[in-house]
Amino acid sequence: MTPDERAAAEAARGFMPPDEGLALWTAASSADPALGPVLEVGSYCGKSALYLGPAIRDSSSTLYCVDHHRGSEENQVGWEWHEPDLVDPHTGLIDTLPHFRAAVHHAGLESIVVALVGDSPRVAATWSTPLSMLFIDGGHGVEPARLDYEGWTPHVAPGGLLAIHDVFPDPADGGRPPYEQIYLPALESGLFTEESATGSLRILRR
Ligand code: SAH
Ligand code: MG
Repeated sequence: MTPDERAAAEAARGFMPPDEGLALWTAASSADPALGPVLEVGSYCGKSALYLGPAIRDSSSTLYCVDHHRGSEENQVGWEWHEPDLVDPHTGLIDTLPHFRAAVHHAGLESIVVALVGDSPRVAATWSTPLSMLFIDGGHGVEPARLDYEGWTPHVAPGGLLAIHDVFPDPADGGRPPYEQIYLPALESGLFTEESATGSLRILRR
């Protein structure tokens, strides 16, 4: 990453510590564009996209960013990760899409990033393109995590990467669903092997 790219990603709003972001960038840089595009589930205000996008800037690859931009359960009013200024006064609902779009624009990534605005399982239902890398950081409840595992991981191409965020083997560190519904099933499927762990980020290869 160039110093400018790194500064932009670190300044962006969201939930991606710098060391995990760099690990994400390193993984995406090593993904083979010939296997297919890169797709992330859960973009929020674009922080992780600002690590993934620069990694494929010089390739012919594309970064698809799936998010309904209405926030996860924990982002809603009264929950731990609620940010009041993200509520659209006209609808009373969270809307992170304008923030995502501005971040992607300012990082010069508009030609690389394709936003898919909608419910993740619905987008996955008709997706058929093999992926060189899949990054899952969407809804962290049991059901959303399970649906993201079922809907998206079959699309990781053989030789491709599966990155999972917020994997906490110790319940004292955080919520369990990404660990129990995505990380463990991926390993237990026998299709994926672990390549690296940085903080709560796990990189697996198919
Ligand atoms: N990767 C981001 C953080 C993502 S937060 C960063 O680096 O900062 C989780 C995101 O998942 C939220 O933006 C939320 O809107 C999205 N999300 C949760 N459930 C979803 C679903 N069913 N479909 C689409 N997006 C969903
Ligand atoms: Mg996360």
